[in-house]
Amino acid sequence: MNRVRVIFPFLCLLVTAAEYALAMAPLPEYSHHQVFQKDLVTLSRGDDADNQIMDDMYRIDIKNIAVTFDYYPESAYADCLARVEFVMRPGQIRPVIHFDPAIRYNAVSSILLNSERLDFSQAADVRVLEYAESTQDALEFQRDLEADTEHTLEIAYRLPLPELYPRFSTEVSDLEGRGNEEIFPTINTPHELARHRLTFRVHSSTVFRCIGSGLVVKSGSDVQQWIVDTEREMASGTVMFALLPEADTVLEQRNIAGVDVRILAFVGGASISAAFNQLTPWLPQLEADLGPFPMPHGISIFLVSSGGGMEYYGGTITSLWALEHEVFHMCYGCSTILATYRDSWLDEAVNMWHELSMDPAFAPIGNDYRSNIVSGRSPVAVGFDRRAYDEGARVMEAVARALGGRSDMIAFLRYVQQHKQFAPFTTWEFLDYLEDFSGIDMRGRFADWLFMDEEVHMPEDTTIRHGLRASDLSPPEAIRQKYEVLRRRKR
Ligand SMILES: [Zn+2]
Repeated sequence: MNRVRVIFPFLCLLVTAAEYALAMAPLPEYSHHQVFQKDLVTLSRGDDADNQIMDDMYRIDIKNIAVTFDYYPESAYADCLARVEFVMRPGQIRPVIHFDPAIRYNAVSSILLNSERLDFSQAADVRVLEYAESTQDALEFQRDLEADTEHTLEIAYRLPLPELYPRFSTEVSDLEGRGNEEIFPTINTPHELARHRLTFRVHSSTVFRCIGSGLVVKSGSDVQQWIVDTEREMASGTVMFALLPEADTVLEQRNIAGVDVRILAFVGGASISAAFNQLTPWLPQLEADLGPFPMPHGISIFLVSSGGGMEYYGGTITSLWALEHEVFHMCYGCSTILATYRDSWLDEAVNMWHELSMDPAFAPIGNDYRSNIVSGRSPVAVGFDRRAYDEGARVMEAVARALGGRSDMIAFLRYVQQHKQFAPFTTWEFLDYLEDFSGIDMRGRFADWLFMDEEVHMPEDTTIRHGLRASDLSPPEAIRQKYEVLRRRKR
């Protein structure tokens, strides 16, 4: 009860932030809510239990995800065609995919698996699976596929989008474990890496802007078209894009210490110059601490007026308040990647430690501390423990003290950042790296601090104290009013 009461105001903030965007968005006409029969799956446990559970749930290893979005801003939807190229994971034969719109609405118009047409409404072709250990549902295709061969899944679907304002953007929340399976078919886990090519075709007389992860190229003559290409394999949940009307926004670009920085904000919204003022010392500081900026095309920022932020590969959607935190995640979180959501406590702990340990009085976690921050969650569950930000940072301070102090800890973090990019690792593997780097074995202490079987004390939800919440993507009042007038005229 205590925990529920503490979390409640946090959820309220999320609702407020999302309210404007989503509350009044009816689905496109042909879509109607549909309740699917779900089949509950129990995952096996063996000697290598965690890896087995992950293979059993995720089934496929994706190489490429290519999606074309035909976006109709005035009608508030996108017609989408996704192509997913994958091989089966070891020992797996029946493929699954995560794709929440297919389960939530009647959004899918066609499915081709290796060019064979499957009927989404037939249980002989597609089943919806739910899991006891995760809130992430999956679509299972009722065909057995060969090992060591590349397979192709193509799904055509209509994605309903917010009606009140023509913004089409990612809205990932790693705290909640919500990734881009809200927008295209993928596997929602940090360690599933794929190359993404997203093509946006905007069908409107309104001129749009587009920013996103990786290489963003404007092309096409008949419609406004952009291709967002991540150029390398990465977690789907770290892929960002944002499309907004040019007239409502400002876009400025600067190069800071060799890093191209693009900042997009609403007219009358957040201060772009204040953001550049923060980043001018921050980017060189990060490079001095952790090494060269890990994204060759720099960083694209959709700067919003309030709320928190979310990090993506070479991008962030954030308020000024969370900007430095999200940019730190370009290293820990978006290029140095934890293997599961439950291990993702670590990139938050490292990030918060870097900030909090600037105060020499910042205290390490006590040796008598006990928790189930990691062990309390399944490796396939989504989201991570919110104690990452506070107790997690104190665990990192204990590591820093064992190493000899803040600069020794930064040298270790730089070592991991330089050697383990795009090679997802677990909490235990982080301890292997610690031992490789320093000879120090902290496995016993980590087992007590993070891997207790039972909850020892009821944790305080520290996300509120740190102000962690979703960024507020709604435009300023003047822009809202403009669209309200346009809507009335249309009626
Ligand atoms: Zn964070």
